[in-house]
Amino acid sequence: MKTLVWVEHDGSAVKDATLAAVTAASKLGEVHLLVAGEGVDGVAKAAAEIAGVGKVHVADNAAFAHNLPENVAPMIAGLMASHDAFVAPATTTGKNIAPRVAALLDVMQISDILSVEGDKSFTRPIYAGNAIATVESSDAKLVLTVRGTAFEKAAASGGSGAVEAVDGGSDAGISSFVGAEIAKSERPELTSAKVIVSGGRALGSSEKYEEVIVPLADKLGAALGASRAAVDAGYVPNDYQVGQTGKIVAPEVYFAIGISGAIQHLAGMKDSKTIVAINKDEDAPIFQVADLGLVADLFTAVPELTSKI
Ligand SMILES: Cc1cc2nc3c(=O)[nH]c(=O)nc-3n(C[C@H](O)[C@H](O)[C@H](O)COP(=O)(O)OP(=O)(O)OC[C@H]3O[C@@H](n4cnc5c(N)ncnc54)[C@H](O)[C@@H]3O)c2cc1C
Repeated sequence: MKTLVWVEHDGSAVKDATLAAVTAASKLGEVHLLVAGEGVDGVAKAAAEIAGVGKVHVADNAAFAHNLPENVAPMIAGLMASHDAFVAPATTTGKNIAPRVAALLDVMQISDILSVEGDKSFTRPIYAGNAIATVESSDAKLVLTVRGTAFEKAAASGGSGAVEAVDGGSDAGISSFVGAEIAKSERPELTSAKVIVSGGRALGSSEKYEEVIVPLADKLGAALGASRAAVDAGYVPNDYQVGQTGKIVAPEVYFAIGISGAIQHLAGMKDSKTIVAINKDEDAPIFQVADLGLVADLFTAVPELTSKI
């Protein structure tokens, strides 16, 4: 089986989510990559070095500059004439493009796969991760999105894929890129961080989040996260949200501070290797998944912990 993997990149480097998608794709057969964008020579070179990659298709065209699915999906559908499966990381971009590809191919997408059980058989979470379904496709072509935390990352070096240009591509004229405001941060990215410190509603304000959560994250070199309640209350920006409707993370260590452990939050972090919970309510559901739990008032416990690191 020949797979075509969507390469997630920022214009200069391949993003980690791609590496997990490559591992998933390698379980199906030969791995080809697709690098789309404008001026993406550097990304294509880096992609060709990913271990196990046979070929890198490079679609370098102004129409693909901002990954508008309306422009990118028809090009991918064309490439699928010579591939059996399209595999994208289950990221914002992957989830934006894959359904349109599936629609153009008239097949059903299988979303957020956790494992590859056979040529056309996969597991995926349902009911916010409370049950795992095994699904089998009877479609001629597969369109899959891959949960990054469920697969090891392929090695970023050691490969020698052949780079091949994809001809054509045009602006479909039904959408246009208006602008992007990219938050710049010295911190590790939430989905690839080794340590995450998340704060919940208990913090009460953005000032308290800054005062209590940020210094601990600084000491640990951690990414910052939050529950939806903290995001909805405006303590932190939307892209901090961990959970069913936020980011899915699985760091080495996850701190849940003043977070109750609602099922929708757990859906985003329960695969973390070590979960540390600080909550003043000993019956909080977060303690059921925590490896280390501290029943304490966060406003005293966290500064004390921070001062001792
Ligand atoms: C469709 C849907 C999707 C959702 N998606 C998400 C999602 O992606 N992510 C997400 O997080 N939520 C999501 N939610 C919301 C979720 O159900 C919860 O409402 C939310 O996670 C609660 O956030 P919280 O734990 O910060 O707040 P709360 O549930 O209010 O918990 C606050 C906790 O802080 C503790 N506390 C209070 N004061 C202190 C103190 N001084 N010291 C220590 N502990 C203290 C309390 O004991 C309590 O356990 C979703 C809900 C729905 C319906």
